[in-house]
Amino acid sequence: MGLDAGIEPSRLYPPEIGEQERGHLIQTVKDWSIGHGLVVRPPPTVIAAEADTRGITAVPAPVTLFPSGLARHAFRQGLAAQKAYNELYAAVSRDEKFLAQIVKEVIDGDDFVRDLWAVHETVKSEGYTQPLSLGLFRSDYMAHHDPSIQPGPFYQLKQVEFNTIAASFAGLSVRTCQLHNYLAKTQYPLLQQATSGDTLDLPDNKAIEKLAGGIEAAYNAYGAPQANHTKCVVFLVQGTERNVWDQRHLEYQLAQASPPIPVFRVAFSDVLRQTRLAKTEKRQLLYAPPFNPEGNFEVAVIYMRSGYGPGDYPNQEAWTARCHLERSYAIKCPSVLTQLAGTKKVQQVLATPRTSKESILSEFIKEDTPSAVELRKTFTNIFPMDTSDVGLEAREKALDPVLCRDYVLKPQREGGGNNIYGSAIPAYLKGLPDAHWNSYILMELIKPSPSRNFILRNGRLEEGNVISELGVYGACLWHRDTGEVLHNEEAGWLLRTKGNQSEEGGVAAGFGCMDSVSLL
Ligand code: ADP
Ligand code: MG
Ligand code: MG
Repeated sequence: MGLDAGIEPSRLYPPEIGEQERGHLIQTVKDWSIGHGLVVRPPPTVIAAEADTRGITAVPAPVTLFPSGLARHAFRQGLAAQKAYNELYAAVSRDEKFLAQIVKEVIDGDDFVRDLWAVHETVKSEGYTQPLSLGLFRSDYMAHHDPSIQPGPFYQLKQVEFNTIAASFAGLSVRTCQLHNYLAKTQYPLLQQATSGDTLDLPDNKAIEKLAGGIEAAYNAYGAPQANHTKCVVFLVQGTERNVWDQRHLEYQLAQASPPIPVFRVAFSDVLRQTRLAKTEKRQLLYAPPFNPEGNFEVAVIYMRSGYGPGDYPNQEAWTARCHLERSYAIKCPSVLTQLAGTKKVQQVLATPRTSKESILSEFIKEDTPSAVELRKTFTNIFPMDTSDVGLEAREKALDPVLCRDYVLKPQREGGGNNIYGSAIPAYLKGLPDAHWNSYILMELIKPSPSRNFILRNGRLEEGNVISELGVYGACLWHRDTGEVLHNEEAGWLLRTKGNQSEEGGVAAGFGCMDSVSLL
C-alpha cells in the first residue's frame, strides 16, 4: 500500500498537519470519542488523587487520526473468505477425534489446554444436553505484498490467526468507522492540505448489528424457557475489564430487538454464586440478578468475554465454574471444543499441506466454493515444533541466529503478549524443557508495507510509519450432532494499527490502536 496511492495522485495522504491543526483535531477526536462511546476505562493508577475510585471515568480509546489505506481486492477477499471460515471452524469444533489428536500433541507442555480438555471429557461422560453451538469469530490478517503478480502492486491477505473466543473490538470498530466518517465530512476538508471527504472510499461496517444478530439467532433457536422463567443472555466478563463499552455496544444492540433481549453481565468469579443448574434432565442454567434475587431468568446464551486464558482460572473454583457452564443447557459462545478449535496448533495443522495435491481442508468443507477458494489463499507457512521431519526442520530454523528472524514462535494462548519474535526465539527455546517444544508452532512473519499515520493515545499524538491488521468477524450457529448450519454470516470488520517497530498489535494490551479502512 503506497503512502499516497489511490487518493489524489499529487497529494500526500494522510496530509501534513501543522501544530494548531493537530491541537484542533485532537480536541475534536477526544470529544467525539466520549460523545459516542469510543472509550475504555482508564488504566489503574498508583497516584491516589488520580484514581477513579467510583468507577465513573471513561477515556478515549487510542485511534488513528486518519483511516489507513487497504487495497480494495484484499479487503474484499477477507470478507469473501469469512463464510467458509465459519463453516470450517464449526466443522472442526464438531470433530472430537481431530481435536483429541491436537490436544495430545500439545498437552505435555500446556496445562491450560489439558484442563480445558478435562472439562470437555467430564461433560461428555454424562452427556451434553444442548445440541446447538454459537461462534462469534474473528479472522485476523495482514496484507502481504506478492511481487510475483504483475502488473502490481498486488496485496494478498495472509491470516495471522483465527479467534474463536472473546473476539473483541466490534463495538469500538464500528464507532471508529463513524469517527473517521465524521472527520472526513467535517474536518479533513478544512485542513490546509485539505482532503475532500468525497475522495475517501470508507466501506460500511455492520459488526455490532451482525454479531448481536448471531446472539439473537441463538437466543431464538434456544426455544421456550421453563414455566415461570424469562429467557436471557449472559455476558461472562472479567471483573477487571477495561474494554467495557466495546461489550456494552453489543448489549445496547440486543436491547433494540423486539421484544428487547435481557442481557446480564456476570463476572467469571461470580458464576457459582449467581447461577445454578435446574435439577432436570436438561440442566437449564438459571440466573437471579443480585439486585433482584426473586428474578427467575433462564440463560439461553452465554457469551464469553473471559475464560480464554489461564489468568481467568486462578483456582479450582474457576474450573468448577467453567464445567458448570459447559454442563448446562445454555448455548455456549463458545463451547470448550470451539475454544480448542481456535488454538494456533489447529491453524498450523489446517495450513499444512498433506501432499502437494491434497489438503486436510476437504475433510471439513467443500473446497470448491468461491468463499473456500479465497480462504485457501490466506494460508501462510506455519510449522509444527514436534519431532516429525518438518518439525525437526522447523526446530533448526528456530534455533538458527539468522533464519529465526523471519519467524514468530507461538504458544497455545490468547489475548496478546504471549508470542516470541525473531531473534529472541533461540534463547527462549533453549530455556524450555524439551518436552514443551511440541506445544508451540513456528510461523513465518508476514511483512506488510508500512504507511504513515498519526496515532492519538492518552491525549498524545504519535506520528510515524504504521502497519495494520484487518480482522473479519463471523457469526455462526450450528448443530453439534447433525452439522446443520442454522446461521452463517460475515459479520463486519476491524482494522487495528500499530507502529511498525512494534511486534504485537493488541489494542487492549497497549500495543496498537483502533483504525478504519480507506479503500485504495
Ligand atoms: P493473540 O491470540 O495473542 O492475539 P496473535 O497470533 O494474534 O496472538 O499474535 C499477536 C500479534 O502478533 C498480532 O496481532 C500481530 O501483530 C503479531 N503477529 C502474530 N503473528 C504474526 C505473523 N505471522 N507475522 C507478523 N506479525 C504477527
Ligand atoms: Mg491476535
Ligand atoms: Mg487470538
